[in-house]
Amino acid sequence: APRVLSGIQPTGPFHWGNYFGAIQQYVDLQDQAAEAYYFIANLHALNTVRDRAKLQEYTLNGAIDLLALGLKPEKAVLFVQSDVPEVSELCWLLLTGTPMGLLERCVSYKDKMAKGLKADAGLFTYPVLQAADILAYDSNVVPVGEDQIQHIEVCRDIAGSFNHHFGETFVMPKAQVLDASAKVPGLDGEKMSKSYNNTLAVFDDVKAQRKQILRITTDSRPMEDPKNPEGDVLFDLYKLVATETQVADMTALYARGGFGYGEVKKALADAAEAYFAAARERRADWAARPDDVRDVLKAGAEKARAKAAATLARAQAACGAKGY
Ligand code: ATP
Ligand code: MG
Repeated sequence: APRVLSGIQPTGPFHWGNYFGAIQQYVDLQDQAAEAYYFIANLHALNTVRDRAKLQEYTLNGAIDLLALGLKPEKAVLFVQSDVPEVSELCWLLLTGTPMGLLERCVSYKDKMAKGLKADAGLFTYPVLQAADILAYDSNVVPVGEDQIQHIEVCRDIAGSFNHHFGETFVMPKAQVLDASAKVPGLDGEKMSKSYNNTLAVFDDVKAQRKQILRITTDSRPMEDPKNPEGDVLFDLYKLVATETQVADMTALYARGGFGYGEVKKALADAAEAYFAAARERRADWAARPDDVRDVLKAGAEKARAKAAATLARAQAACGAKGY
C-alpha cells in the first residue's frame, strides 16, 4: 500500500476545483494508503496572503473544511505545514542543488507572471519547498489536479539528482490525477483557481452561490435550438454534482433543445446544494469546536514531525551537513 501525501494552500475558501481535483482523492486514498499525510500549506500561502489575521483564519478554516469533507483523523495525518520546521530545513538542502532553469520553466510561475502578479523569491522557489514537503514523508503517491503535474516532475528531478549525487536517499513520488476532474473550469471557463477570482466555494452560503451560478455567461443560442455540452461550463460543473440519471437526462435535453440556460443553472444550483448538504452539516459541527480542530492538527503535526525528522537526518548525513 502506498504512502500518500498532498497539501492545499489556505489562500482562500476551498472551491470545487480543490474538492473534485484533490480533496476527493484525499478522502478515497485515506482508506487504501499505508500512511496518508494531508497538510494545510500555510508557508506556500504566504506568497499570496500578506495579512496575518486572514492567513490564520484561512488556515483553521481549511482544516475544518477538510474534516467536513471526510478526512478522518484516525486514518489520515492532518497538519499545518509550518508545524513541521524540518521541511523548511530540508528545502534548503534541496535548493542548493536545484538549477535555476528548472524553476524558470515552471508554468504556474510563468502564468502568474503573465497575469502581472509580482515575482518574489518565494513564488519562484515554491516548487522546491513543495518537493521538500513530498520527499520528507517518503511519499509514493501525490493526489493532485492537473496543474500540479509539472511540479511533481520537478520534485522527481530534484530527488533524482540528489540520489544520484549523494546516494539513495529519497523515495520517488508520482502524481495521481483523476481524469474526470483534472482541471475543473471556473465561472469564466479558465481553470478554477483561488487567485483568479472565478471560484465556486464548496461551503459558500447557498443563496449567494445560487446568484453566482445565475451570473455565469452562456452562449446566445435561441431557446429552441439544441445546445452543445462540449466546453460548456454549466454542463461541466453539473456533471460533477449531479447523479448519473440527472446527467443522462441533461445530455438528452441538450441534444433536444427547447430550453433556456436559466433552467440548467437552476438544476446546477439544486444539484450542488444536495451534493454538499451532508458535508455542510459536518462543517457546522466542527466549526463550533475549533479547539478540537486545533487538537487534531497538533496530534497530526507530532506524527508528521517524527517522520520528517528522520528523512531530514538521512538527507543531512548523505550530503555531509551532519557529522564532522
Ligand atoms: P492558488 O490560486 O492560490 O494557487 P488553487 O485554487 O490553485 O489556489 P492550490 O492550493 O494551489 O489551489 O491547489 C490545491 C489542490 O487543488 C492541488 O492539488 C491542485 O492541483 C488542485 N486544484 C486547484 N485548482 C484545481 C482545478 N481547477 N481543477 C482541479 N484541481 C485543482
Ligand atoms: Mg494553485
